[in-house]
Amino acid sequence: MDAQEPLLLHIPEDVERLIEERLILKDDVLKAIRKAEGGGAKFVNTANGRSLTPYRPKTVTYWVEYSRSGDRYLVHSAYSHRMGMKTGGGLTDGANSVSDAQWICHACQVPLEFQTVRLQYMQCIFPLDLPACPRCKSILISEELATGKMAEAEQALEDK
Ligand SMILES: [Zn+2]
Repeated sequence: MDAQEPLLLHIPEDVERLIEERLILKDDVLKAIRKAEGGGAKFVNTANGRSLTPYRPKTVTYWVEYSRSGDRYLVHSAYSHRMGMKTGGGLTDGANSVSDAQWICHACQVPLEFQTVRLQYMQCIFPLDLPACPRCKSILISEELATGKMAEAEQALEDK
C-alpha cells in the first residue's frame, strides 16, 4: 500500500471507548493497520477472517484486531503491553506442542504452534508457552494475556 493512500477506519463506539480507556491513540491504530497492510507482520484468524497485527513504535507494543469491510477497516479491538518478547528454545515438546490452527502467520501461510517464549520486562524474564509462527518466529500475544497476566506482572514490577 502507498503510504500516502488514505486509509479509512471504522471504530464502533464500544471499541472506541475501550481503546480510550486503554490509552491507545487512534493514530497508533491507524499506523498499525497501515504497516500490516503494507506488508508488515500479521496473523489471520481462519475462523472469522480477522487480522491481528503487532505494532511497536517505542517501548509499547500495540495489537490491533481488524477486518476489511468494503473500503474501510473495521477495528474489533486494540490492546497494548510493555513487555518485550523473544522466542526461546524452539518448539515445546510433548503434550504442549499443540498447533493453534485457528491463527495463521500471513507471511508464511502456516498455522501457529505453541513455543516457549520469553517475555521480558525490566530485569525480569517470564517463560511462557505461546502461539508463534514456526518459521519466522513471530509471536502472538492474545488480548486475554496482555490485559490479564501481563498487565498484572507489569504493574507488580513497577510497584517494587
Ligand atoms: Zn511466519
